Amino acid sequence: MRRPLIAGNWKMHKGPSEARRLALEIRNGLMGRRTATEVVLCPPFPSLFAVAEIVRDTPIALGAQNVFWEKSGAWTGEVSADMLRDAGCDWVIIGHSERRQHCGETDATVAKRVRAALDAGLHVMACVGETLAQRDANDTARVVETQLRGSLGALGAGDWAHLAIAYEPVWAIGTGRNATPEQAQEVHALVRRVVASLASEATAEAVRVQYGGSVKADNAAALLAQPDVDGALVGGASLEAASMIRIIEAAG
Ligand code: PEP
Repeated sequence: MRRPLIAGNWKMHKGPSEARRLALEIRNGLMGRRTATEVVLCPPFPSLFAVAEIVRDTPIALGAQNVFWEKSGAWTGEVSADMLRDAGCDWVIIGHSERRQHCGETDATVAKRVRAALDAGLHVMACVGETLAQRDANDTARVVETQLRGSLGALGAGDWAHLAIAYEPVWAIGTGRNATPEQAQEVHALVRRVVASLASEATAEAVRVQYGGSVKADNAAALLAQPDVDGALVGGASLEAASMIRIIEAAG
C-alpha cells in the first residue's frame, strides 16, 4: 500500500509574510483531522524559513522547488541541497516543466540535481510530462520514457525509496484542463513499467507516482481513485488553504 503524497507547488507566489499566513491556515485547517496522506508545502526560496517555522513539529513537510547540483562555491544565484536541508526542507521538486520550458532544464541537469539532492538526504519529486504537440503526435509514451531514463536512469537501488515521480502533462498545467483519470492512469502505469526496467518490479510497485496538472478540490477524488495515482502535485489550487485541504482529504 503506497502512502498518498500531496504537495503544493506555490511557484513564484507568496513571499515570506503571505507564505507564513497560508501555511498557518493549512496547518490549522488540518489540525485534528485524521489523514494518512503525506503533505508537503513548497514555497519559493525566500519563504522557506518562514514556512519551516510554521510546520515544525507537525506532520507537514517542507519542500523547495529546485536545487543546484554543486555543494557550494561561486555559483551566483544558486542554492545547494545542504542549504535546503539547513532551511528545514525534506523534499525538493526537480525538473518541473516550467523549468524545462523556460530555464533550460534538461534530463541531464535534472539527473545532476536529483543526485545532489539525494546525496544530501532530501526526498525528490521528479517531474516528467509531454507537451500538447507531443500528445497530439501520439508521442506521450516515448517522451515520458525518455525523460525517466535520462533523468533517473543512473539511480542506485537504495535511491528509489527517497523519490516520487510526478507525471505532469504540460498541456494540463495551469490551464484548467486536467488529464482525465483514464489518461493519467495510462501514463502512470507506463511510468511504473519503466521504473521496473530501470530498477526492479518491487521498486516499481513501491514508488509513488503523483499526478499534476489542474488538480482541484472537485476533480482530485476521481484522479486519486486510479490504481496507479498515488498523490498529486498541486499548483494553483494549493494557494488557497480550503482547496488544498479538500485535496488532501480526497487522498485519504
Ligand atoms: C504544478 O505547478 O505543478 C501544477 C500542476 O500546476 P496547476 O495545478 O496549477 O496546473
